[in-house]
Amino acid sequence: MKISEKGLMLQAKFKQIKIAGLVLLILAAMSFVFLRNPILALVFLGLELAMEIKLYRCPHCNKMLDWRRKTTDDSCCPGCEKFLFRGL
Ligand SMILES: [Zn+2]
Repeated sequence: MKISEKGLMLQAKFKQIKIAGLVLLILAAMSFVFLRNPILALVFLGLELAMEIKLYRCPHCNKMLDWRRKTTDDSCCPGCEKFLFRGL
């Protein structure tokens, strides 16, 4: 089954979330190490988590996905076991 345009858009969105999450994690680490500001670090971590929880979800059943796992074209949702990017 070919991935539809909607599936490709979702893949791009997940990629952006991963990059933004990485940036937030780096910002959190930098505020902790260089600014010695654990509160600011927690704010960045909180933002990162909130973003993952809000946006990193299965398009079929809306269950939260494990964002530490890499997604590929054939990734399945652990909840409904459908292909994430296919059949959209
Ligand atoms: Zn699902």
